[in-house]
Amino acid sequence: MKRNLLLTPGPTQVPPQLCAALGKPIIHHRTPQFQDNIKQAVEGLKEVYQTKNDVYILTSSGSGAMEAAVVNLISEGDTVIAVDGGKFGERWVELCETYKAKTVVYKVEWGKAPTAQEIKRLLAQNPQTKAVFVTLAETSTGVTPNVKAIGEVVKDTKAVLVVDAVSGLAVQEIKTDEWYCDVVVAASHKGLMLSPGLAFVSASAKAIGFMNQATTPRYYFDLRECKKAMEKVDTPFTPAIGILIALVDSLAMIKKDGLQNMFTRYALLAKATRAGCRAIGLSLFPDESCATNVLTAVNVPSGIDGEKLTKTMRDAYGITFAGGQDKLKGKVIRMAHMGALDEYDILTGLACLEKVLHQMGHQFELGAALAAAQKVLNQK
Ligand SMILES: *Cc1c(COP(=O)(O)O)cnc(C)c1O
Repeated sequence: MKRNLLLTPGPTQVPPQLCAALGKPIIHHRTPQFQDNIKQAVEGLKEVYQTKNDVYILTSSGSGAMEAAVVNLISEGDTVIAVDGGKFGERWVELCETYKAKTVVYKVEWGKAPTAQEIKRLLAQNPQTKAVFVTLAETSTGVTPNVKAIGEVVKDTKAVLVVDAVSGLAVQEIKTDEWYCDVVVAASHKGLMLSPGLAFVSASAKAIGFMNQATTPRYYFDLRECKKAMEKVDTPFTPAIGILIALVDSLAMIKKDGLQNMFTRYALLAKATRAGCRAIGLSLFPDESCATNVLTAVNVPSGIDGEKLTKTMRDAYGITFAGGQDKLKGKVIRMAHMGALDEYDILTGLACLEKVLHQMGHQFELGAALAAAQKVLNQK
């Protein structure tokens, strides 16, 4: 009997309580009972988002919410700025180009953070900009930018700030209102510890104004319909009923743990993981100064095949890390610190990493990663 430990940055480990919640009987969605679930889910989401804005619930993966943001905010020919410092930033660019926005691409070297100053410069150069698209935690590289500083720069312009917080929500801080984030997208299968299937979009008053003006054709992802439905505590179409019911329990767990306590816990797990990796010769991929606590991306030692490493860990031992995407394929491994993970999950992951690296001929002292991680975890 092999374990199945997901240390991947989505989907994430679903804790037993939520597996049970996901197995609850399906009720009809046009009923007062289900409305009660919608109400609780929206209230809980607003707390995690730290917002008073609307939060709409979509039935899709996270990318569906990204597409919803694009089609509802921009019209063909609009100028937008999209930050591209990894696979998910690239997705913003591809979406904007698909819907024929004039896309100013702010290319950032993988592993480095975009800066508010550069966004300010691009906005000054393109004063007609309608939207700025950024990623809270760039899951492909492990980078987080200073979203607060970017919000300060965007707020007094004509543009809305759109943040992909799919991997970051409930894992690292995002203060939607205080940081002037007009639209924030997220999903059920990352920090919220559920199966994939629900996605979320928040919208400020400024964003709602854009929604009502955009001329891009849209149907399933028309947020004007979501808004109308939400006012009646309803959804435009049949939602992923089972996940929404379980979301109420997930949000209650988060509330009980306390958001700030969760952020602190993930930061500690990230610190311990990094210390462990460094102790066996694996360096952090992103610049330390902009590394997110959502996940740790480390460089695979030279001479070791990163793809074989993660495949062996998964197939032989049931412990799943993510590999590198695109140009980082085989070159980095990524370990998540989100959702229902605790220190023993991290230690188990590091133990397995040591075992397979040892088998593959990497030279280090067995136990060094565990010792270094334990020291961090047990610091008082
Ligand atoms: C997972 C993820 C997404 C969405 O991916 P889906 O596969 O569509 O759910 C978007 N952005 C980031 C940063 C992510 O980590």
